[in-house]
Amino acid sequence: MKFIALLFLSFLSLWADAHIFVYHRFNDSRHPSTNTTNEELRANFEFFKSNGYKVVPLHLLVETIKQKKEVPDNWVVLTIDDNYKSFYENGLPIFKEYGYPFSLFVFVEGTHKRYPDYTSWEDLKEIAKYGAIEFHSYGHKHLQKLSNEEIIKDFDKGMQLIQKHLEIKPRYFSYPYGEYTSRVKKLCEEYGFEAIINQNMGAVSEQSDVFDLDRTALVGKSDLNSVLKYDFLDATWEKPQEYPEDKIIHSISLKTKEKNAKHAKVYVSGYGWENFKLQDGLLEANLNKALKFPRSRIIINVDNKISSKLLIKDSYGTK
Ligand SMILES: [Zn+2]
Repeated sequence: MKFIALLFLSFLSLWADAHIFVYHRFNDSRHPSTNTTNEELRANFEFFKSNGYKVVPLHLLVETIKQKKEVPDNWVVLTIDDNYKSFYENGLPIFKEYGYPFSLFVFVEGTHKRYPDYTSWEDLKEIAKYGAIEFHSYGHKHLQKLSNEEIIKDFDKGMQLIQKHLEIKPRYFSYPYGEYTSRVKKLCEEYGFEAIINQNMGAVSEQSDVFDLDRTALVGKSDLNSVLKYDFLDATWEKPQEYPEDKIIHSISLKTKEKNAKHAKVYVSGYGWENFKLQDGLLEANLNKALKFPRSRIIINVDNKISSKLLIKDSYGTK
C-alpha cells in the first residue's frame, strides 16, 4: 500500500502537461547533432513505459484540444522530421516493437529526387502501415525567406506528389528548421492544415493553439526527466510580436493566467535567464537587449510553465 502511495506521488510530481517530441536521425553516427542511437531510443521508450506515460497518436491530441476536452498529463506524442532512410532502417523496427504510434513529417523533394539519405516512395508506403504521414514542405526552404506565392507553390507541389504516390492527404504540418513568423503561420493556417507543429521547447494542454503546438527535440541521451516536467504556460504576447527592425528588444509585455505567481524567469538567446516581477499575471519589463542572432528565442518560465517566442526576420514583412 505504502509502495503504491509512493508510486502515485512520484507520478504526480513527474507528470506535467502532454508533450510532443521530435526525432530526426536514427543510429546514424555521421550526424551526432541530430542523431538518436538504438540504445538511446530504447532508453526513451523504456522510460515512457516504466513511468506511466502513454504514447498516443498526434491526431488524438489535436482532436482532444479541438473538442476542448482535458488533455491527460501522461500523454506523449512522438514525431519524426525529414524521412531519413535511417528512420526506416533503424527507428521503425523499434517503434514497431513497442507498438508506439508516430507521425512522420516528409520532406518530399528528398524522396522524389531520390536523395541517398532519404526514404523512397516504397519505404514510405511501408512506413504508412504503422504511423501517419504528414507534411514538412516540398523543398525544405526557410519559409520566412519565401513570398506567399512561393510557399503555396512549394506546398502544392509536395502535397500533390504525396497524394499521387501514397494516396494520402497529410493533415498536419511541421515547419522546416522549426522556423516561422506570423506571416508564415497565417499562410499555413489558411492553406488548410488542421494543425501546425513548431520546434519550441514546451508542453501542450487544452489551452494550446493547434496551429502553434510546442514540440521538443530529442537528440542523443536526452534528459526526459527534466523536459517532461515543463507545463504549458497560457500567455498572450503583446511585445515583442516580430523580430525588431533595430534588432533591439526594448521591452517585453505579456499576459498570463498565473495571478498568484510573483516572478517570471525570462531567457533571451545569448543572454541566459533573468528574473522579473510578475503582477496579477502580467509581465511588463524593459529589456533593452540587442539580439545577438538572426534567429533568437525568448522563453518565459513561470513556476516551470513555459511559453516561448521565436524571433526571426521575415523577408516579406508581417502581412
Ligand atoms: Zn526538417
